[in-house]
Amino acid sequence: MLVLSSPSGAGKSTISRTLLEEDKGFELSVSVTTRARRGSEIDGHHYHFRTAREFENMRDNDELLEWAEVHGNFYATPRAPAERALSEGRDMLFDIDWQGAEQLREKMRGDVVSIFILPPSMRELKERLRRRAEDSAEVIAARLANARTEIEHWLDYDYIVINEDLHTAFTEVRSIVAAERLRRDRRPGMFDFVTGLLDEKLT
Ligand code: 5GP
Repeated sequence: MLVLSSPSGAGKSTISRTLLEEDKGFELSVSVTTRARRGSEIDGHHYHFRTAREFENMRDNDELLEWAEVHGNFYATPRAPAERALSEGRDMLFDIDWQGAEQLREKMRGDVVSIFILPPSMRELKERLRRRAEDSAEVIAARLANARTEIEHWLDYDYIVINEDLHTAFTEVRSIVAAERLRRDRRPGMFDFVTGLLDEKLT
């Protein structure tokens, strides 16, 4: 379970999208949210857009692996797809905030690898939010204020990537993924492989 967190505008969505395109081993966890759909977003692809009532029902029926309130809206990870991926040994990508990351770490322990993406500066973050131009000035101001709270949780993450240059940041994320997949404890088949190596007859 690969968790990517960052303040809005730090490039996390672009990095996630590129990772999903380039690495077919990953499946995206599509979150549920009560926030309004942005013009470019597709229901069921970017998010499952739900009313507050529908969200509460899902939460009360224990259908959510984690949930949090972010910028005045609710966001959550649906439980079933994540548990299915995990039980089938597939890698899943989670684009969630620090509150969600904290809950996943508590529930999934060693199965979670977390990366925090930082902007090179607050000025640059503001500029990127402004350029995105999908949100009102009021929403941008709220997101900037929230960015500080998000950044304060950087110490909880396994890896830190500074997104000054998108290509470099993406290469770093890919390196982390490659290294994590090579960890001995994630390679159960190695036991047989090494036993075979040691049993090999050299004539
Ligand atoms: P946005 O509204 O810009 O798409 O997302 C706002 C924030 O909510 C981002 O930091 C994003 O990572 C976070 N977020 C998205 N989905 C989830 C989720 O399922 N759970 C949690 N805890 N946060 C989420």
